[in-house]
Amino acid sequence: MQRGRGEGDGGSRRDRLIQDARHDTYRARRKPLEPARCPGCGAVFRDGRWQWIEDSTAVPVPLCPACQRIEDGYPAGFVTLSGEFLQEHRDEILALAHNVEARERGEHPLKRIMEVRDQGGEILITTTDLHLARSIGDSLYHAYAGELDYQYTKGADSLRVTWKR
Ligand SMILES: [Zn+2]
Repeated sequence: MQRGRGEGDGGSRRDRLIQDARHDTYRARRKPLEPARCPGCGAVFRDGRWQWIEDSTAVPVPLCPACQRIEDGYPAGFVTLSGEFLQEHRDEILALAHNVEARERGEHPLKRIMEVRDQGGEILITTTDLHLARSIGDSLYHAYAGELDYQYTKGADSLRVTWKR
């Protein structure tokens, strides 16, 4: 499937499911009584979801799932970038990834970039939320084409995105 600037210049993308025995404990175990506030980031859990709102009645809970993942060093999303085009346009590409994060985090407190790491020619971006990883991959593909690959783990509780150009 191709779209945007990927059409006609060799872009490709595919989805695969891989097996992973680990389960996402973050979603399952974090259903705090409402309203609750994360002491790490200040997000408030109300109406069944985490939001950037003020609520003076919110009681502190240990941590929201995103802050918990950051503390545990346990990402939900992994976006690996590689290729010559990446090397030549590194700053621009990372700026796009950060813009995607800023936009999504503004609406969804649990969508955050955890870390951006250089690892020998590749760049790994880890995220607290797999949908954010997917959005970053989609945005890169939309902007620059290239090769995009998604690998969901069993149960779809984490996602590995690779983008190469
Ligand atoms: Zn938090």
